[in-house]
Order: sequence, then C-alpha cells, then structure tokens
Amino acid sequence: MKITIGHLYPDLLNLYGDRGNIQCLMKRCIWRGIEAETIAFELNDTIDFSKLDIVLLGGGSDREQMLVCEKLKKIQEDFKAYVEQDGVVIGICGGYQLLGKYYKTAQGMMQGLSLVDMYTEQGDSRLIDNIVLQSDLFEMPVVGFENHGGRTFIGDNKPLGKVLYGSGNDGKSGYEGVVYRNVIGTYLHGPLLPKNPQLADELILRALRKKYGKDIELSSLDDSQEKSANDYIYQRFVKSEE
Ligand code: GLN
Repeated sequence: MKITIGHLYPDLLNLYGDRGNIQCLMKRCIWRGIEAETIAFELNDTIDFSKLDIVLLGGGSDREQMLVCEKLKKIQEDFKAYVEQDGVVIGICGGYQLLGKYYKTAQGMMQGLSLVDMYTEQGDSRLIDNIVLQSDLFEMPVVGFENHGGRTFIGDNKPLGKVLYGSGNDGKSGYEGVVYRNVIGTYLHGPLLPKNPQLADELILRALRKKYGKDIELSSLDDSQEKSANDYIYQRFVKSEE
C-alpha cells in the first residue's frame, strides 16, 4: 500500500512547524510498512489531484495567504472534484480559512477555494493561546496552539470539536474546526499531527480506505510519549480550570 501526500505551497504556508505534520504522516505510514511519498507544490505548479491521497495546506500570515489566494482559482475546480469524491484534506489555520468561501480582512478580501460552505472575517484582536478540544471522532482530546486574527463561521457544518480551553473558530460558538466529507480544517498548530497521533491516523485511515477498501485497519503504534504529552496539556489547561 502507498500513500501520496500533496503539500500545497510549503514555501508560503508553513507557520508553526507545519512541516512536522508531513513528517508525522510519512513516519506513521512507514512505521507500519505503508509506502509514503510527499509532493510539494509551488504556486505555479499544475496539480494532478488524481495522484494524491492526502492534501495538506498549512498556516500562513495574511500577506502570504493573499499571494496564495490569487492562484487558487486555477486549481479550484479540480480541488473541488477531489473533495466531492471523498479525497482527504487537512487544512490548518491559514490553510483552513482558505478552504472556505472567503477571508475578509481590513487589507482586502481573499477569495477562498469554496470547498466547504464557510467563511472567515478578521476580528479586532488576535486569538492566541493553547487550545484543547473534545472531538467525537476520538477518545483522546485534541491539543494545540492557536494564533489567528480571523473568525471562522462554519454554518451548519460539523465542527471538529468542542472547545475545552481556548477560543476556537470565532471565540464565541464554543466550537473549533470543521469536518466535511474527508476534509478536516482546524486552527490548531503546534504542529497538529505529532501532538495528536489519533488525528494523523484518522487521515491515513480515511485515505487508505478510499484507495484500498473499507475493511482496511491500521496496526497500532507505541504512542505512549505522544499520549503523555497530550495528557500533560489536558491536565494543565483543562483540569486545572475545573
Ligand atoms: N493569517 C490568518 C489569521 O491571522 C491565519 C494565521 C495562521 O495561519 N496562524 O487569521
């Protein structure tokens, strides 16, 4: 079995160790004897989505997002088809915002990919802190760090999780992230996947099942260190507040 990861625009969307997310996906495949390859795309590259099993868009500053969004029109149609055919996508922070219809800032309006029916507007402060979620996809909490000026409104879409500590999508709803088909969007950096192996495995499993069949299961790995790091964050920010 083989997984091909498409890393979109790592030269621009690469805040807070997003490359660590790629390393994590690759390693968790390789440790299980699953072949893994990453193709990094630059802005003017042509992307053949039919060759990709997971697409990752990382975080970026408003300025970098603006540069990226000018090029998104070119890939929008193919990317949308990939999503509607249950292609797996993980969008983080700036990359999460670009999955929606638009991101409106004081400096201008950025048209997004319109892959998910949601939108983002800049607020009057930045939401910066550690963050902890409870997601009904996993038993283990999802932990990370958020730093965003945008407030994301996901409408009737399903959130990734309920905020136990931190601000989340818009600082008010009490929810964070979005799940639409096999697309997961979230504000969590840190990087996200090494801190949350359950989420990394969810992406790998969804990609393998789509490619090789619904009965695929993942063998378990020794995640004791990741689990104790995750639990430390949970105890520090959630338990201590109770
Ligand atoms: N530039 C976006 C914002 O400030 C996303 C930031 C990020 O990716 N950390 O909301």
